[in-house]
Amino acid sequence: MRPARNAKIVATLGPASDDVDTIHALVNAGADVFRLNFSHGTADDHRERVERIRAVERDLDHPIGILLDLQGPKLRIGTFGTGSVELESGTDFRLDLDEAQGDERRVCLPHPEILHVLEPGASLLLNDGRIRLEVVECGDDHANCKVVIGGELSDRKGVNVPGVTLPISAMTDKDKSDLAFGLELSVDWVALSFVQRAEDVEELRSRVGERAGIMTKLEKPAAIAHLDEIVALSDAVMVARGDLGVEMRPEEVPSVQKRIVRVCRRAGKPVVVATQMLESMITAPTPTRAETTDVATAIYDGVDAVMLSGETAIGEFPVEAVSIMHRIIFETERDPYYRETIDALTPQPDAISGDAICAAMSRVVEIMPIKVAITYTDSGSTSLRAARERPRIPILCLTPYQATARRMQLVWGVHAEIAVAADDVDTVVANACRIAAREAYAVPGEHVIITAGMPFRVPGNTNLLRIARLREEHL
Ligand code: PGA
Ligand code: MN
Repeated sequence: MRPARNAKIVATLGPASDDVDTIHALVNAGADVFRLNFSHGTADDHRERVERIRAVERDLDHPIGILLDLQGPKLRIGTFGTGSVELESGTDFRLDLDEAQGDERRVCLPHPEILHVLEPGASLLLNDGRIRLEVVECGDDHANCKVVIGGELSDRKGVNVPGVTLPISAMTDKDKSDLAFGLELSVDWVALSFVQRAEDVEELRSRVGERAGIMTKLEKPAAIAHLDEIVALSDAVMVARGDLGVEMRPEEVPSVQKRIVRVCRRAGKPVVVATQMLESMITAPTPTRAETTDVATAIYDGVDAVMLSGETAIGEFPVEAVSIMHRIIFETERDPYYRETIDALTPQPDAISGDAICAAMSRVVEIMPIKVAITYTDSGSTSLRAARERPRIPILCLTPYQATARRMQLVWGVHAEIAVAADDVDTVVANACRIAAREAYAVPGEHVIITAGMPFRVPGNTNLLRIARLREEHL
């Protein structure tokens, strides 16, 4: 069925949301892509989640995207016997290599390479920067710290060492085995955390090939410094504001977010804005006004998707969070000012036939009433180029591949259905009209516009633009 909005919703699955009924409810509330956060949970947890998502997908007969989020070289503390502790400001706290459960006085930091580069006076930020420690004395296997700003600290919270370039590679051994495991499960997107350089993305590409889309998480200043190059090498990008706001000053996040979104829109790469979007809904059934405005701001900027993390993974109101996100997007996209801002940022087409066809399609849509843009595509690339135009009408992606249909769930304005391009233009057009009627985009007498490449099934040769009128026989 035709979606009610263009921007998509990524919802993180976790203990609060990973039973079949809740997954079902989340999809009905508007979740388009599920994120599996490999920083938490066991391989079995994630396999079961994939199986349940696929069961819901079969049940609803509608593609669902799955995003495997690799932990990456994120530094995390170990666990506490009690799940969490309260650190008091001014007290001593020790980080060491001892894997025993932690308490109020110490916890494991299982990263010897970091302990090596620490020096007295260095700051350590924990739990997305909420807790600050200062190193007082350290050795190869420990760092004795003073708690500068205390707070609640729970199992496996992240540790940032701002200003220190860490001698760590893009993928840890855990990431490599998680990736192999995820590719076996046929996930659609793989996100790489803490990318610092273009080579980090290339390393993941060499392992993934075309088996999944690569989403680069931008959360390090080093990556922002090489933004164009990194975006060019990625299939999609996530503005990972949690770590970004710790690694950089929080006041820099808004302008960096807007810059990343602009670069991605120019490149035609899907961009996801993530973290703390509806954070207060972890414990409350309604968001703050500032949160609804934050979601809407991302939508006005033209992002492809907005993401929920703890809100759906561990929150008390996962379905409500998705449903409110859906309503914010729906309402924002109806605002005439939304169209103005989206159009103002629409990039020029590149000098390739697919872009020329998509630009022509946008122009036709301004001239006459057209109900839907139908893009025949194998890899999804034509649908992406059509989405780059941010047209006024929905994009119906017709692809023979389920993997493409699932991947397109992340993309602005794209609704994907499985269909094989026939061998002659008349059949291709008739099939497109039939699917447009079936999916409730148009009724007899209304027009649709179709892009395809001839000869059919040759990748990267979109060269055909056809305006067609729906007839009774298409019903
Ligand atoms: P994370 O990534 O939740 O895996 O840390 C998102 C972010 O840093 O914002
Ligand atoms: Mn992060």
